[in-house]
Amino acid sequence: MNNQINLKEYIREIPDFPKPGILFRDITPLLAEPTAFQEVIDRLTDYYRDKKITAVLAAEARGFIFAAPLALALGARFIPIRKPGKLPFETRAFHYELEYGSDSLEMHTDSIHTDDRVLIVDDLLATGGTISACIELVKHTDAEVVGCAFLIELLFLQARHKMNGCDVFSLIQYD
Ligand code: 5GP
Repeated sequence: MNNQINLKEYIREIPDFPKPGILFRDITPLLAEPTAFQEVIDRLTDYYRDKKITAVLAAEARGFIFAAPLALALGARFIPIRKPGKLPFETRAFHYELEYGSDSLEMHTDSIHTDDRVLIVDDLLATGGTISACIELVKHTDAEVVGCAFLIELLFLQARHKMNGCDVFSLIQYD
């Protein structure tokens, strides 16, 4: 049954990675424990099961880890969003601002359908820059963003309030 595993116990804290002053939340111990990884997918599936999700979208790389099994569990399509130059078919690029500098990502032009109900997934919500860019991308296609799901949410950055009213769900929070 759910809620028996304390998922936080499987997150390793790495000080000063990738830069001094940053406390990195390392998800690899969780990925290395099948019961914990399975519980993540089960709890996300429980939350979204009745929300008629048709497509699960994630930006590379860590978002893929959770989005692909979740898409299968929900019976939805998986849509990979990638760094420029990686997707082989026709692409649409989108640029977004980050705390320091900017970045860009690409999607296949035929990946999102106008009647899709899209769930966006990532491993961790920090400032929300990456996810906001994905939300904008979906909105340009006229599809609906049903929600954004994360394994980890850094509450002190208050990014959930900048998600344009999009429902945010996370399994592990840090104050
Ligand atoms: P944001 O765009 O919300 O500022 O940053 C979130 C993105 O950066 C996510 O794609 C996530 O993979 C990555 N990220 C930032 N900090 C961490 C961290 O401490 N741990 C992990 N696993 N990913 C992080």
